[in-house]
Amino acid sequence: MSLISQNLQAVHEAIAQAAQRYDRNPTDIVLLAVSKTFPAEDVVAAWQAGQIRFGENYVQEGVDKIARVAELLGLPALNQGRADASAPEWHFIGPIQSNKTRPIAEHFSWVHSIDRDKIATRLSEQRPDNLPALNVCIQVNISGEASKSGVAPNQCAQLARHIHSLPRLQLRGLMAVPEATENEVEQRRAFAALRELSKQLAQGGIVLDTLSMGMSGDLAAAIAEGSTMVRIGSAIFGKRNYAV
Ligand SMILES: *Cc1c(COP(=O)(O)O)cnc(C)c1O
Repeated sequence: MSLISQNLQAVHEAIAQAAQRYDRNPTDIVLLAVSKTFPAEDVVAAWQAGQIRFGENYVQEGVDKIARVAELLGLPALNQGRADASAPEWHFIGPIQSNKTRPIAEHFSWVHSIDRDKIATRLSEQRPDNLPALNVCIQVNISGEASKSGVAPNQCAQLARHIHSLPRLQLRGLMAVPEATENEVEQRRAFAALRELSKQLAQGGIVLDTLSMGMSGDLAAAIAEGSTMVRIGSAIFGKRNYAV
């Protein structure tokens, strides 16, 4: 068994344990394998171990890897949509510059990191007609750090309404990358704030099905507070070679 498949099994066990501990149904928590900085061959190893969903942070790296993985797996070329349910599903989770939206709209199934109207508008305009609507999450700056990307919590409803008005986007949920801390109480406080924001949006008529929160270091806290999608990189693929 490859190291990646052993790591995947350990992550599935950690998800199951946290789900049991916090009274969640483990099937309500989707695993997104974050493959940034790792080669296409590692994605293929994870796919062979049953992993379907992959996350990328950098546009060019992601687009190149999507093509290479399709080639290695003998799948149809880019821009054809997913060949079947077992084909890899690609999620863009990194910061988005407005001049880089087109390749994202053309090659990914999900975008987790929308933080302003202009990016949403461009992704909707550039989503090819032969593909289903792009699934999107709003990234929220939940810890209020000046340097972090994400919309301020009090601007989230306005952005959600804008996305709702766009024909080629399907608003699925909220995403956050809270300030890194090993303190589980603080981790949970940030994730609880994202969950509360989602609840407020629902009260205003915007009902979402996704809370994209939890990484290798705070997976249990995220599950405790209602995560439906955890984004796990290093616990699956190992330590990254450059800081990201
Ligand atoms: C890198 C990254 C992850 C995965 O982080 P790990 O700590 O390696 O699990 C998740 N989400 C985002 C937005 C990232 O940039």
